Amino acid sequence: MRLVRFQVQGRPAFGILNNDEVGELDGEGYVSLTSLRATHRTADLNFLAPCVPTKIVAVGLNYRDHARELGMAVPEDPILFLKPPTSLIGPDAAIIWPSMSQQVDYEGELGIVIRDRVRGIAPNEVRDHILGYTCANDVTARDLQKKDGQWTRAKGFDTFCPVGPWIETDLDPADLLVESYLNGERRQSSRTSQLIFGIERLVSFISHVMTLQPGDLIITGTPAGIGPMRPGDEIEVRIEGIGSLKNRVSAEFGVRSAE
Ligand code: MG
Repeated sequence: MRLVRFQVQGRPAFGILNNDEVGELDGEGYVSLTSLRATHRTADLNFLAPCVPTKIVAVGLNYRDHARELGMAVPEDPILFLKPPTSLIGPDAAIIWPSMSQQVDYEGELGIVIRDRVRGIAPNEVRDHILGYTCANDVTARDLQKKDGQWTRAKGFDTFCPVGPWIETDLDPADLLVESYLNGERRQSSRTSQLIFGIERLVSFISHVMTLQPGDLIITGTPAGIGPMRPGDEIEVRIEGIGSLKNRVSAEFGVRSAE
């Protein structure tokens, strides 16, 4: 099942995508996936990020090839950081290049959306609490990441977390092809079987640190091949069994005029 969030008659709504139609769900969020209140044609809708997280938990260095390209050791425990919910954007929305940075990179990643409120769950319980999977881009101001020594600013700008185009609920995430394309050229290609910390271990570990809420988003780390984008570029994250998330980069208004 493909779960979507969209704008209809000026209000946000949740639904189930079926070819060129969306069934709008009754009630709040994805709590009930059976009761529909209306049907819309996809052509009439503006799609939004498919989840509304209270937090976005991200994982650094979770592919061996990426740790190697950064010259960093493979970590003993997952390296966690947070991106603010205000960094979230949906499919086709613009990534706004901030004036503070000279290097803005893409990082294609598998996203996990949490189904219900959980704390301290064991790895073998994790699958029961996952709503589904989506494509994500952990956009990073690489120069500021190095300069600040921690990642809040570099990872936290508005628009720095494109997610979508939907949540796929029926998927085994153990061995999916994860790719990124910059202006149609493939730049990242790996499989989720290459994750240092797999889905079960990761979600269990995070749930022992913080309570996870419905809609919370976990982005699972990026493979090798990260690189810079420029204003006007199109970045696509493509994940096997899910789909394709495309976003364009725009310069912050008025920023570059002084150069
Ligand atoms: Mg990342």
